[in-house]
Amino acid sequence: MKKVADRIKNLPPYLFAQIDRMKQEAIRQGKDIINLGVGDPDMPTPAPIIHALQKAAENPMHHQYPSYEGMLSFRRAVADWYQRRFQIGLDPECEVLTLIGSKEGIGHIPLAFIDPGDVALMTSPGYPVYHAGTLFAGGKSYLIPLRPENHFLPDLQDIPSDIAKCAKLLFINSPNNPTAAVANKAFFERVVDFARQNEIIVCHDAAYSEVYYDGQRPVSFMEIDGAKEVGIEFHSLSKTYNMTGWRIGFAVGNREVLAALGKVKSNLDSGVFQAVQEAGIAALRLDDAVLSVIRKIYQERRDVFIQGLIKMGFVVSPPAASFYVWMQTPKNISSSNFTTLLLSRAAIVSTPGIGFGDSGEGYVRMTLTVPKERLEEALDRMEKAELYGW
Ligand SMILES: *Cc1c(COP(=O)(O)O)cnc(C)c1O
Repeated sequence: MKKVADRIKNLPPYLFAQIDRMKQEAIRQGKDIINLGVGDPDMPTPAPIIHALQKAAENPMHHQYPSYEGMLSFRRAVADWYQRRFQIGLDPECEVLTLIGSKEGIGHIPLAFIDPGDVALMTSPGYPVYHAGTLFAGGKSYLIPLRPENHFLPDLQDIPSDIAKCAKLLFINSPNNPTAAVANKAFFERVVDFARQNEIIVCHDAAYSEVYYDGQRPVSFMEIDGAKEVGIEFHSLSKTYNMTGWRIGFAVGNREVLAALGKVKSNLDSGVFQAVQEAGIAALRLDDAVLSVIRKIYQERRDVFIQGLIKMGFVVSPPAASFYVWMQTPKNISSSNFTTLLLSRAAIVSTPGIGFGDSGEGYVRMTLTVPKERLEEALDRMEKAELYGW
């Protein structure tokens, strides 16, 4: 057989696939694994969403190819949701695009704007798809380090001006995976200024905007004056409504950017099963009380877990949003070694910070997507394994 393309060879091994192999091996050895490795909600999709799918699946109208840009009724539901949640007006006809999950749109946007050799800006650590998509388009990734002294927000002043001038895309992500950092309006205003000065298209990933704590609701990039002129916001039903398996998300904002992304998509995919879009409409119309119940469960887990980790002597801050705990590894232990120790001594799966980029070294990411009792069990095992205090 002929060799695979360089773009496949040059790809870093997909982090979660690697962790999955380690996990499978431990399971084969008969260990009771606590999986804090993958950010996938453990709670079921709310019943009204499932019922909407069941009903829509019986309608033959939905059995044919969907429209490329998504049903207008779904895009209207997205616009209504943005109005309700962020007080932002969107034109559902051209300022909303349906995606097969936000990962799909994030992975494809570089094909719309990056020519071979072009630069996309993104953070280290960061969600791996920004780099993979850029690589597939033949582009180059410029990594902006995230530092604790900057509250894990990228410092745009750090970017050399010649790179800023030639860059085409900037990926940002708040609430952040993996650091759990949340951007405020002042940060987003600096992003709009930066994008205007350098004519950069901003791609803001807001997958976790509804997973927050203490009633502190994260802001949308679209709330900033001028945001719609410089960029788009990716969003997902996955994390908000426990719908990771359903594959539906959307992008909103600048109509020219969305049209270009839509053009890529119409040549590669054929949209989202309309019955799933009907279920998406039901999700976006749910009363916020449903989400409050989910948030309350995450908050209980967060409080128990963070308190236990701090008591053991770990250096960690409680996340203000997202279901990630971004914790410093003990002194002189690399993130990969610490992840291996957690697995071998405590049968806990975690993700080494370095897997999200070089600047993630010194940290490990753990998720709150297991029941509180399992987090308590994890704390117990960590204590017994004496994984702290080095
Ligand atoms: C989970 C995740 C996504 C992708 O979600 P979809 O299921 O594809 O909608 C996008 N960005 C970040 C940062 C994520 O963690």
